[in-house]
Amino acid sequence: KKRIAVMTSGGDSPGMCAVVRAVVRAGIYYDCEVYGCYEGYSGLVQGGSLLKKLDWEDVRGWLSLGGTLIGTARCMEFKERWGRLKAAKNMIVEGIDALVVCGGDGSLTGADLFRSEWPSLLEELVATGEISTEQRAKYQYLTIVGLVGSIDNDMALTDSTIGAYSSLERICEMVDYIDSTAASHSRAFVVEVMGRHCGWLALMAGISCGADHIFIPERPHKAGSWRDELKRVCSRHREKGRRKTTVIVAEGALDDELNPITSNQVKDCLVEIGLDTRITTLGHVQRGGTAVAFDRMLATLQGVDAVRAVLENTPETPSPMIGILDGKIVRKPLMEAVKLTKSVSSSIAAKKFDEAMAQRDSTFKESYANFLDISEHDDGSQ
Ligand code: ATP
Repeated sequence: KKRIAVMTSGGDSPGMCAVVRAVVRAGIYYDCEVYGCYEGYSGLVQGGSLLKKLDWEDVRGWLSLGGTLIGTARCMEFKERWGRLKAAKNMIVEGIDALVVCGGDGSLTGADLFRSEWPSLLEELVATGEISTEQRAKYQYLTIVGLVGSIDNDMALTDSTIGAYSSLERICEMVDYIDSTAASHSRAFVVEVMGRHCGWLALMAGISCGADHIFIPERPHKAGSWRDELKRVCSRHREKGRRKTTVIVAEGALDDELNPITSNQVKDCLVEIGLDTRITTLGHVQRGGTAVAFDRMLATLQGVDAVRAVLENTPETPSPMIGILDGKIVRKPLMEAVKLTKSVSSSIAAKKFDEAMAQRDSTFKESYANFLDISEHDDGSQ
């Protein structure tokens, strides 16, 4: 019987529990045993009670939950070879030969590194007498499958990461709440949303909430003119009768000289055109709460496919990442996706904004263009 460990790692996102549930239940369906690896990679490094067998009923009611009930952590030990050596030993002691990791690009990079080092880790464990040569032969290969849990929707080769739509929904609810008071008092609100290297949440929230303006890192506004542009757009919307002003700022927003565009700077501009302006930094409410239907569906379909991918994996197959493209669940080489994702940040750092934008998916690009066109021509009302 194949024994699969499932873990959640890096920042939590709604839908991670649904992933664990799907992996556990699909695993049982396909006649595997599934272990929950608690606290991210710490569960592998420490072993013992942090590696627990999960049965069908252990994950009952997990489908809709936010956060992750098996915990997540940033595990520094796993970044060191000695930590990964301990992890390998614990896996062999528990008889685990496959790992399904749900996390961001860091977690998936760690998983792939672990897999590539696996033969040499086993060699070292045999040399120090911690495992037998029979164990080495039995656990010759490690199978890794990645699932992307992230509210930022910041991974390449997938249209959507698990948790992103839940977070977007939460942001929209919060902006709706703010809108009531904004319209009543004729106020302006600067809403800061998460997304250090990816403006997906800010962009889609801007479109979904009918914001007057958005600031994202991939398409920075000109350092010398963004303030005037912001004032012009917001003033025009007011002149046309809008009673509220909403500007969405991604926490990683930049100008084209790579200076941060902060909520305070945006507020100052709005005050200068006479608007009573408040800043709302949404913070961790964006991560919390139940998973929306799309994330439950995505987590379940991808969790099931992760188990299938484990069973179909061969030593020659590169570690797969399960994604969704054009509505279909797909498997992509995990490291290719991580490399492409990192190249967006490098393009921004090198001021190659068109390249950064080109590497984002087509929905993102088109949405941005449409948002600009529409906010340029309409009165900004919802
Ligand atoms: P998020 O996008 O939410 O930040 P992430 O998975 O990218 O998620 P990280 O903090 O980068 O979050 O990584 C989570 C954990 O994965 C780390 O604490 C560490 O245990 C492991 N990890 C990350 N990068 C590596 C690496 N290069 N080698 C080994 N392990 C790694």
